[in-house]
Amino acid sequence: MEHGQDSKFEESFLPMTSIGNGVGLAVLPDVYCYTDQIVNLVLVGNPNETSDFVLIDTGMPKSADEIKKIAKERFGEQARPNAIVLTHGHFDHVGSIAVLLEEWDIPVFAHELEIPFLTGKEDYPPGDPGVDNGLVAKMSTRFPNHGIDIHTHIQPLPKDGTVPYMDSWKWIHTPGHTPGHISLFRERDGMLIAGDAFVTVKQESLYKVMTQTQEISGPPKYFTTDWNAAYESVKKVEELKPQVAITGHGLPMSGAELAENLRLLVEQFDEIAKPKSGKYVN
Ligand SMILES: [Zn+2]
Ligand SMILES: [Zn+2]
Repeated sequence: MEHGQDSKFEESFLPMTSIGNGVGLAVLPDVYCYTDQIVNLVLVGNPNETSDFVLIDTGMPKSADEIKKIAKERFGEQARPNAIVLTHGHFDHVGSIAVLLEEWDIPVFAHELEIPFLTGKEDYPPGDPGVDNGLVAKMSTRFPNHGIDIHTHIQPLPKDGTVPYMDSWKWIHTPGHTPGHISLFRERDGMLIAGDAFVTVKQESLYKVMTQTQEISGPPKYFTTDWNAAYESVKKVEELKPQVAITGHGLPMSGAELAENLRLLVEQFDEIAKPKSGKYVN
């Protein structure tokens, strides 16, 4: 385990919060969404039936104790996930992973195209403050963009679309925000864990992040580098006709509201999602 990378994260830690901070919500009996400051992580597994669960994304830096605590509250004192699945490797989704892996010696799965950023080989491009007037966009140059190194635990997701330890779920490649970004989908009940393929809060605006104002949005603009791929990914996700969506940021959305908002996002992607200008546009 490389500690250097993780302490770099901790130095660049930004205290950010939202009214949802620390709130957990069982969206379905086996799908628990927890908001860590401004980002969501998900525990998949039904505590009434089993102590087996999988953790999707690992929150902000310095949240390891909090994540262990919610896991214990839900799955008992011995709680330990079978695996971690990452939607992508941005700092707010892998923030606490190195510390968690010190206690949990478990496999971590990600798309093979994301692995260079998770083995210290590549850094993400820096945040682009020019994409929006919002304060979070302006702050984004200070967000850590370096890859982390968890090569001792990381494995590529199976090529056949299955997700280890998550029966009846499939992973779907939804690039654009990052090259190896994935979403997770369960056809049986239309449950979607979207990561940052699209989000339900205007992530560039500090006010909207703090108040968690619901508003369909494409991927967070300041970190998204391939807008054509991001559009294709939103289209792919809309075609799945999800019934419930947990996104990387913002509150879960479901039913007719989700269907209507996703349709709108596809139809008006350039107006709603894409920055008018910026380093990574065109
Ligand atoms: Zn991201
Ligand atoms: Zn994110």
